[in-house]
Amino acid sequence: MHELSLAQSLLNQLYDLAAQNGASRVVKVTVEIGPLSGIVQDSFEFGFTCLAAESSITCGAALVIKTPAAEYQCLDCNHIMRLCLDRPLNCSACQSKMIMPKGGSDIILLQVEMDKE
Ligand SMILES: [Zn+2]
Repeated sequence: MHELSLAQSLLNQLYDLAAQNGASRVVKVTVEIGPLSGIVQDSFEFGFTCLAAESSITCGAALVIKTPAAEYQCLDCNHIMRLCLDRPLNCSACQSKMIMPKGGSDIILLQVEMDKE
């Protein structure tokens, strides 16, 4: 399961950060999931919660997921279309089929709240 290994690598980042900051607990994590990543948000959340429970550092940590809308840019007229659904077939301005996705496909760690005790 793709989401599970992504959740694991996010947790590994959190353990590193906690160690670097001398923190004993991660309280809250905010990530952004790129709209073109293909990640199933529910599966990712589920994987994170299960794996986080295995360590006292991340057990009970809140996960906040932000999903920005996908953007597509027309290569002919540079018109930008913001859509969260499927890729458009034609540019809505000039009907060109030369459309490139602009949204991200990564998980980006935006913010981490930690407790030092
Ligand atoms: Zn266009």
